[in-house]
Amino acid sequence: MMLRVLSLLPDSVVDGPGLRTVLFLAGCPHHCIGCHNPSSWDPAGGVEWTIEETAERIRKVGNRRLTLSGGEPLLQTSALMQLLEQLGSDYDVILYTGYLLEEILQRRRWHPLILRVDGLIDGPFIQSKLDQTTSFRGSTNQRIYNRKQLEEAVYSIDKNSPSH
Ligand code: SF4
Repeated sequence: MMLRVLSLLPDSVVDGPGLRTVLFLAGCPHHCIGCHNPSSWDPAGGVEWTIEETAERIRKVGNRRLTLSGGEPLLQTSALMQLLEQLGSDYDVILYTGYLLEEILQRRRWHPLILRVDGLIDGPFIQSKLDQTTSFRGSTNQRIYNRKQLEEAVYSIDKNSPSH
């Protein structure tokens, strides 16, 4: 399986807590007005890396904090699950997505990834809500969830599902 990657940024302090490696993934269906990087929208854009190659490049950076951004990372959920398995459980992982948590919860195939990450920032960028003083967010509509909150949200959906 391959990943469509826009770029790998080794040292960021604005994409989650601490010094982080950021993997920017290609393809985004949200098309927010004022998007910082419209060239990220094309799902056939960027370059293709194997899972192994991507994991090796991330390991080489050295820190154990990884941010998945884009683009829309959830378009590549299966490949990202494989990547995180290869990296191991000691990586602290933050996920940026243009989907709302409520939309994510409707898609069961995304639940395993949501349960693996340590933090999630949700929602599209809304230009009228731009606030450069907020940490880790582009606009104030975006919400930050920690692992406990994500687990509770996913488990409450699973518990209420007729299939369980
Ligand atoms: S979700 Fe992010 S990458 Fe996608 S259009 Fe919105 S701001 Fe751009």
